[in-house]
Amino acid sequence: MAEISLADVRDAAERIANIVHRTPVFSSRRFNEAAGAACFFKGENFQRGGAFKLRGAANFLLSMTQEQRSRGVVTFSSGNHAQAVAIVARELDVRATIVMPADAPKTKLEATRSYGARIVPYDRLHENREAIGRRIASESGATLVPPFDHPWIVAGQGTATLELLDHVSGLDALAVPLGGGGLLSGTLIAAKSLNPSTKVFGVEPEVANDWALSLAANERIAIPVPETIADGLRTVQPGAVTFPIVKSLVDDVLLITEEEMKQTIRFLLTRLKILAEPSGAAGAAAVLHRKLPRGLKRVGIIISGGNIDLDVLAGICGGTG
Ligand SMILES: *Cc1c(COP(=O)(O)O)cnc(C)c1O
Repeated sequence: MAEISLADVRDAAERIANIVHRTPVFSSRRFNEAAGAACFFKGENFQRGGAFKLRGAANFLLSMTQEQRSRGVVTFSSGNHAQAVAIVARELDVRATIVMPADAPKTKLEATRSYGARIVPYDRLHENREAIGRRIASESGATLVPPFDHPWIVAGQGTATLELLDHVSGLDALAVPLGGGGLLSGTLIAAKSLNPSTKVFGVEPEVANDWALSLAANERIAIPVPETIADGLRTVQPGAVTFPIVKSLVDDVLLITEEEMKQTIRFLLTRLKILAEPSGAAGAAAVLHRKLPRGLKRVGIIISGGNIDLDVLAGICGGTG
């Protein structure tokens, strides 16, 4: 198991301080009433690039040697990681190549291109993005920046929780969106090191339940590419680095439906005036729909991102409820 400690998360926070925003923490009486708990949202939808992914990407690129940086970076991603790598690469004057699904949300494709990265599109259902990324890396000498399964990424993602816990004390629980497990692993290392009695829950879509299956089976299980609206949570298998961390520290993995995510997006937008993308709303959806055990009075929720196509948002908001 990769040894990642609270000290690594603290070092990451210092390393990336000049690149990332310290995002706001907010709360809403109406959400609290609906959820039956005092909730504190960490607004990573306000992060640069619109998601927490900038934290891991910044920590990764800043941990590389100057010599490695001179040969560039390559990555594969559903979008937010790509955007984060592109932003950090431009800031550090590093060449970036991004392997992206041809059907990624248009806002994410366009934003990534606008940051000056080279984009290589691929077919999400029939091609292996990792294999394409590795081939480009071996041909060009560029370093592959994985979206979640690396100690530098995990430590960087943990800085969001470090900031949240710096801002709000006495949290009984945290609810965190769960895709490949980088955000949850970093959260677990930060939160459990500071206070082992804080409960930490990962939240994934019912239709993308690779973590729930893997934890039950006690091994990493791969599922077919899930068709969930939460494009940031479409990973098919827990990571080799993230699985042992989550397995040993997480309190539970909670499942939410597509409709619960949509309802939560509408609630956050109409009542709190906060725009979350489907993946970004997963933690809030679990709390709002009371999937956490009873009796947890103060709950931290990471709104992990806010990048959503306007036509997708219109489809979600056109519904009732
Ligand atoms: C990537 C992403 C996630 C999932 O993070 P992992 O580290 O892969 O578990 C959740 N929400 C958003 C908005 C993301 O971009």
